Amino acid sequence: MRELNLILLGPPGAGKGTQADRLVEDFGLPHISTGDILRAQVAEGTELGVKAKSYMDAGELVPDTVIIGMITDRIDEGDARDGFLLDGFPRNMQQAQALGDALGGLQRHLSAALLIEVPDEEVVRRLAGRRVCVKNPGHIYHVEFDPPKHEDVCDQDGSRLIQRDDDREETIRRRLEVYHAQTEPLIGHYDGAGLLRRIDGRQSADQVHAHMRATVATLRLEEDL
Ligand SMILES: [Zn+2]
Repeated sequence: MRELNLILLGPPGAGKGTQADRLVEDFGLPHISTGDILRAQVAEGTELGVKAKSYMDAGELVPDTVIIGMITDRIDEGDARDGFLLDGFPRNMQQAQALGDALGGLQRHLSAALLIEVPDEEVVRRLAGRRVCVKNPGHIYHVEFDPPKHEDVCDQDGSRLIQRDDDREETIRRRLEVYHAQTEPLIGHYDGAGLLRRIDGRQSADQVHAHMRATVATLRLEEDL
């Protein structure tokens, strides 16, 4: 069986994490997330981890070159040789180029870029409606989809519910602007290469999952030909 090298694209609020978990279970691929790798390498004190930490300690963003090095090392590890699901990377054209180069250097290629599409207004509706309990941030509600019995009061412990700063409409719209500016070129790039697979993210999580699973199963068949 050939390898399945996948990347996952989509706006905040598209449910990428949930869908990645399910695909990983369906196809036995390692889920590679930039945040997880960064934390692991910093904790292990690898050469790249030490370098990354020096930027983080200085309150600076970890540069692309360091992130790219980490991802390149990770996709060459044993469990990722039959394929992987990359989440949160690449985020821009420079990273996409670097990923292509890294895969080429390993005599591998990308199988597909899976894009979960959700319109901006739907992202805002999903994220801005979230309310969390001040006492236990695990108690999460949604004003429209999962409202508490009494407005702004936690059903489980009677504490006050608040909207986190991250869930404020202005914040979400700023994140969406950054997402579009960085990701649109990537979408065009992968579409041009015939690698883009679009999934309608307005459906329920189960429907999105069914569509993604069918898409990846088809890819696997094509890779086997
Ligand atoms: Zn609560």
